[in-house]
Amino acid sequence: MIEETTPPLPEPFPCTECGSGHMHMRFITYFTWLNEELLTVPNFPAWICDVCGRREYDQKAISWLTMLLNPNAGRPTVRKRVSPRARPRPESSRPSPDQT
Ligand SMILES: [Zn+2]
Repeated sequence: MIEETTPPLPEPFPCTECGSGHMHMRFITYFTWLNEELLTVPNFPAWICDVCGRREYDQKAISWLTMLLNPNAGRPTVRKRVSPRARPRPESSRPSPDQT
């Protein structure tokens, strides 16, 4: 049984909005639209100010989510064709056509 050890939460940092509060990392449910469907992502890391309530999503988590939702967004996934020359087939193994 694999049990993930929860890493310690990152240090809170001063809020850029109100200046007096601090942004704490919280795990919230993130809502996003994918085409016509509303997706909910539970336990999504976000920074939330304890004074003004400003919410900022973790950039790494956002990019991870974007990658999940748009698999083709990053680089085009073009499968390389294996060139026929890469696998030389000896002529002798080929069954000779019976032509008379
Ligand atoms: Zn604030």
